[in-house]
Amino acid sequence: MAKRDYYEILGVQRGASEDELKKAYRKLAMKYHPDRNSDDPSAPEKFKEASEAYEVLSDSSKRNAYDQFGHDGIDPSGFGGSSSQGFNDIFGDIFGDIFGGGDPFGRRQRSNKGSDLQYSMTISLEDAVRGVTEKIAISCLDTCSSCDGTGAEEGSQLVTCDGCGGSGQVRMQQGFFSVAQTCRKCGGSGQIISHPCKVCGGQGRVDKRKTLSVKIPAGVDTGDRIRLSGEGEAGISGGPSGDLFVQIKVLPHDVFERDGKHLYCEAPISFIDATLGGEIQIPTLDGKVKIKIPEGTQTGKLFRLRGKGISPIRGGSTGDLLCRAVIETPQNLSKDQKQLLKQFQDSITSNSKQNPLREEWFSKVKSFFEN
Ligand SMILES: [Zn+2]
Ligand SMILES: [Zn+2]
Repeated sequence: MAKRDYYEILGVQRGASEDELKKAYRKLAMKYHPDRNSDDPSAPEKFKEASEAYEVLSDSSKRNAYDQFGHDGIDPSGFGGSSSQGFNDIFGDIFGDIFGGGDPFGRRQRSNKGSDLQYSMTISLEDAVRGVTEKIAISCLDTCSSCDGTGAEEGSQLVTCDGCGGSGQVRMQQGFFSVAQTCRKCGGSGQIISHPCKVCGGQGRVDKRKTLSVKIPAGVDTGDRIRLSGEGEAGISGGPSGDLFVQIKVLPHDVFERDGKHLYCEAPISFIDATLGGEIQIPTLDGKVKIKIPEGTQTGKLFRLRGKGISPIRGGSTGDLLCRAVIETPQNLSKDQKQLLKQFQDSITSNSKQNPLREEWFSKVKSFFEN
């Protein structure tokens, strides 16, 4: 999909001042903030778009690159979406990633941040609707407790790297060119540990299996991700830990089908109840509910139970439960029962009041053949 022009997104001229950009962005951020637009599914996308445009245009070097080369001047793969601080503040770490968070230019990667991890979690519909706390066990690189992540044996010192002489870079001669490369021995820091930790071999990290308690908020759906800040792999030489992302998958349910915040189910209704009217019990997630079936109910009629659906994770009104009537034709009738039905059939006179569907259908078929 072609990306929209950043100036156009913010609704400003190409020569707009920093102040004008800020004002325009604030206005859009207020307007499309998902917190205020729980009923508008396009709001998060618009919010992200505006945030991304502002991210680029508010940074003079990024803006220069964009002015000269357009979107090609900006690395699109680096974008994770919005990085607006106010936005993250509101949703916190738990929901940060549902709308995209983090640094759009991947600046974190340049430090020694540990890798992010992903965990797939399958939960039942009931748990997704009510929320649940699940224990998960993951194995990942954790900070070495023997050296506290420094990678150095006790009493060890940092000494000048003999690979690069402390500059952190090594020069490689290639023909006429001399290319500077990051020193592999010290990773560019210019210093190495005189006595590396024996437990982790100087890496500062060891493989560990850890158990975590993950709080799944009520209302999650398949595809939602929950971020556990700092629960990914430990950073390298004291760098920050990565994050753990829990990817949610909700299992299909025997009775209910989910569509966003609404639930659907089918209820078989005896043809007697459907004909004469009656009462049936409909299952809901909070137990059974009795509803009245009006006289002459047909298959396909939807009974709506307001507020018996799902409370959306991002707020807004609770969804409904829609129950579809399916009229059941009785089977394995006794001779007497069949006799009774035949008597009943004889009593029915063909008229549009007792069988409106059939009468309408026959007249349509008739006119189809006549024309
Ligand atoms: Zn260690
Ligand atoms: Zn070095």
